[in-house]
This record gives sequence, structure tokens and C-alpha cells, in this order.
Amino acid sequence: MYKSQSKHPLRPAWVEINLRQLWRNFQIINIDKPANLQILSVIKDQAYGHGSVQVARVAEQSGATYLAVATIDEALELRQHDVTSPILIFGERHEEELKVCIDENITCLVNNVSKAEKYSRMAKSAGKKALVHIEVDTGLSRYGVRWSEALPVIEAIAGLDHLVLEGVMSHFAMSDELDKSFAVLQIERFQQVLNSMTNRGIRVKYRHMCNTGGYLDLPQAHFDLVRIGILPLGIYPSQVCRRIAGLQPVMSVKAKVAAVRDLEAGDFVGYGMRYRASTPRRIAVIPLGFGDGYPRVRNQGHVLIHGKRAPVIGGLAMDAMMVDVTAIPETRVWDEVVLMGVQGQEEIDVHEIAQLKGSVSYDILTSWSWRLPRVYLNSNL
Ligand SMILES: *Cc1c(COP(=O)(O)O)cnc(C)c1O
Repeated sequence: MYKSQSKHPLRPAWVEINLRQLWRNFQIINIDKPANLQILSVIKDQAYGHGSVQVARVAEQSGATYLAVATIDEALELRQHDVTSPILIFGERHEEELKVCIDENITCLVNNVSKAEKYSRMAKSAGKKALVHIEVDTGLSRYGVRWSEALPVIEAIAGLDHLVLEGVMSHFAMSDELDKSFAVLQIERFQQVLNSMTNRGIRVKYRHMCNTGGYLDLPQAHFDLVRIGILPLGIYPSQVCRRIAGLQPVMSVKAKVAAVRDLEAGDFVGYGMRYRASTPRRIAVIPLGFGDGYPRVRNQGHVLIHGKRAPVIGGLAMDAMMVDVTAIPETRVWDEVVLMGVQGQEEIDVHEIAQLKGSVSYDILTSWSWRLPRVYLNSNL
């Protein structure tokens, strides 16, 4: 790829990742959390679109004890970039993946005895002891052994010679809304399993249940370690969870105006002729479209130009969108546009864009296409 000489990439549309803000967010969380509570930094799906290697490095420097991803390739990418922290992969692994986990010292979840026995034999032939965690399903009905059936499975796995049972985890179905009743029931179920483990003399290094919502609002479920993904990125999982002063978003999405044009009354704008000018208007063309991950809206949403809101008009194209800048007459070609983030006194946050799509912040963060260059600010912190 050709590199631009300036801090901007060649393409006049990009995603900006402020690593100093990421660092600050981790420090703020370190001050907010109880001193002995450990952090597992969840960096699946390229750290929610921010770049997993870059986020992993800041997490490590901030004292995170563990990293987690969702696929074997995500784990291997970290190892290939010399990330040496312990890495946990969520979900289930098939046999060929397990082999790689042993070779690369990647921790996986084993949730049934026959798989654990097979894994123990594989570790034995590699001359290693493999680290494993067990997931207890307390009500999400996704991965893991059902809480009511967990103890014998945990006991059997803890007894295998070539595995080290390092952790026991569970995962909330709903932790960030006002109604915590199901979350509380899940905590009770998990606690029952932990108590019965203690009664049998089974100890693990890490008991963990909380995602960001749980970390913020359910301190009774912190246990030894919390698995936080979205919080260090400066984004809250819901409108109602606890706030921590000073956290700010790490990601912004920016572009430059590629063309400015004047419309006469009656002119149409865009595919499907979804907008028609009722009076003479001035519009700006932005070289970023739904192929870059912006929701495919029609006559909805705003961007920021000169610190002011310009409404999106017409339907989005794959590679471009049009906005009305009649009220921002200073607009010129190659002026900077903010699609997500702050400009002057105005802000368009991830939740505003999520609303356009009837979705959530997690979806928007991970939807920005990798054809948008990532620009890392303050990479030396
Ligand atoms: C994605 C994920 C998390 C992190 O969730 P956040 O809300 O981003 O903190 C934690 N645990 C598991 C099992 C996950 O899949």
C-alpha cells in the first residue's frame, strides 16, 4: 500500500484511533476498580474494529493480565505480532484448533469431559500442560455446561494430568439494563457452582463472570477478574449503566469533502431519486458510503463540517454520500468531515449512528470496513 507523507492516509476517508485516549481510559478504569480485581481485555473482532494488536499493546502496558478473542486466527495474529500475554479464546474449538492452542500457548474453554480427556492426551504427546477454563452456562444458553450439571464435569476436568484448570467463567444474558433480576439469578447459580467446588477442594486461579455491564453495575459478581471489551474503548454498553468520569471514545471516523455542487429547485439527489430539492441548495459529496460501514440510510443522519451538523440527503451509495451544506456556506472541497466523533462543540456519537440502523454500538464499531485506513494517533503514547 502507498503511504501518504502527511498524518492523513492517501484515501480521504479514514478511521482515527486515539491510542493516548485508550491509554487514559485504561488508567481511569484501573483507578475505578478494586485494587485486586484483574482485567481481561476483550479484543475480539479486531478489538471491535480498533485493531487488536494495537489495543493489546496498550492493554498490556496498562496491566491487563489476560487478553481474549473469539477465533483461532485472532489469537494467532496476536502471537505472530509477539504479543506474549495469556490469551483466552471464547467459544468451542474443534480438534485441529486444539492442537494449535497447545503449540501457541493459547488458553481455551473445554466444557465437557470427553473433549477434555482428548485435549489432555494431546497435551501429553506435545510434552506440555495445557491451560483451560470451563464455562458454566447460567442462563444465556450459548456455550458451556449447564450450572445444574457443572460440578461433576469440573471435578473430572480438574483431575486430568495434562490440563491445568485455570479458570471457571460464566456470561450474563443482560447486565447493563435497569432490570438486574435475571443477572442476579445467574450470579446465584454461578455462586452455587463455586461453592460446591470449594466443598470438593477444587480451586482455580480465575473465577470470572463480568463483561462491561457487569463490571459497572454488579460488583458482587467481580470475583477475580472481569472481561471488558467496550469500556476501555470509551463506550458504554447502555444508556442506563454507571458512568465513569473521564472516559472518552477512542475511535472517530473522518473524511474530506470530495465535491461541492449547487442544486436548482427540482433537482434529484442520489440513487432511487429519494431526495428532491424544493429550493436551490448547496450539497457536499463525501467519498464514503455503505461499503465503508455507514448505515445505508435515506434522508437520515448527519455529519459535521466546520463544527456544524449537515443532514444526509438522498440514499447512501456504496462509495459516497451527499449532505446538505446550504447552511454552511464556508464549505470547500477537501474540508474535513466528521462522521463519528467530535468537531468543535458538536459530537456525533456511536449511539446516534446505531439508532439510524436500529442497532447497537457494538454493531456500528465492528461495521466500519477495513478498506477505511486506520490512522493511529500517539502510537508512542
Ligand atoms: C464480548 C464478550 C465480553 C466483552 O463484553 P463487553 O460488553 O464488550 O465488555 C465478555 N465476555 C464474553 C464471553 C464475550 O463474548
